[in-house]
Amino acid sequence: MADQAAPFELEPLPYADDALAPCISSNTLSFHYGKHHQTYVNNLNKLVEGSDMADMSLEEIIRSTAGDADKAAVLNNAAQVWNHSFYWKSMKPGGGGEPEGDLKVRIEQDLGGADEVRKALATAGATQFGSGWAWLALDGDKLVVTKTTNADTPIAHGVHPLITVDVWEHAYYLDYQNRRPDYLADFIGKLINWDFAAENLAKAGS
Ligand code: MN
Repeated sequence: MADQAAPFELEPLPYADDALAPCISSNTLSFHYGKHHQTYVNNLNKLVEGSDMADMSLEEIIRSTAGDADKAAVLNNAAQVWNHSFYWKSMKPGGGGEPEGDLKVRIEQDLGGADEVRKALATAGATQFGSGWAWLALDGDKLVVTKTTNADTPIAHGVHPLITVDVWEHAYYLDYQNRRPDYLADFIGKLINWDFAAENLAKAGS
């Protein structure tokens, strides 16, 4: 996806839509992926068609529109396309467990260990007011746990994401109703894909 220009296509899910049950039901996943994510893709394609962004990659569109109030609709849809593709890969059936290798070492150095990261992610996700995302990311040469509002994404700010969790209500409401902390506990304990985080850390050239 990284180098592709419009028209963008919805990336295939990396697992079946019932593969994350019972933490995330196939009902939630089919709506979230098939309706919400697809709509962001469709909206983005309409917005960039015939514009000076028609030949840009998704990441180029995000970076070139960041901070430009006139391009907010393009930025919001492009960032949501990117964030959701990243979120699906941030989970896997039978996830959870412990980070390994360089990721484990860096987490211990910068954030005090995996337990501290789990606590920080849960807190970031639970305290994000309204819609948004919680992240483990590489900012400069340091790992950080952070959160963004609505569609905002670290890649608009030159920060390299390693893992994300969607805390928009559409991500959990069918399964957890208002219990966002319970959804976050299941994401962190049972779904989180530490291998994906390790790949992203290696790609960030750290
Ligand atoms: Mn979402």
